Amino acid sequence: MFKITRCPSCDGTKIKKVRRNWTGEFKSQRYTVHDLEYCECPDCVEKLYGREALREIERHSPAFEPADINRRWAYHQRGTGEC
Ligand SMILES: [Zn+2]
Repeated sequence: MFKITRCPSCDGTKIKKVRRNWTGEFKSQRYTVHDLEYCECPDCVEKLYGREALREIERHSPAFEPADINRRWAYHQRGTGEC
């Protein structure tokens, strides 16, 4: 199974799966997704979201922001959503 091991931003190799509360913002309205599981690069704090994570964010967001997330989504599509 293909796994993401390199950060698309800084080429770091320490990407790991984390599970924590995730806070997003839309038009100065903050929203939180509790216990969201996603991947994070500890070097540059780049976040990578898998299918499930994106679905969760979408469910909680007052207005989904595809522009912000498309790049990461596209990146993840090549993999399996795993890190
Ligand atoms: Zn990075």
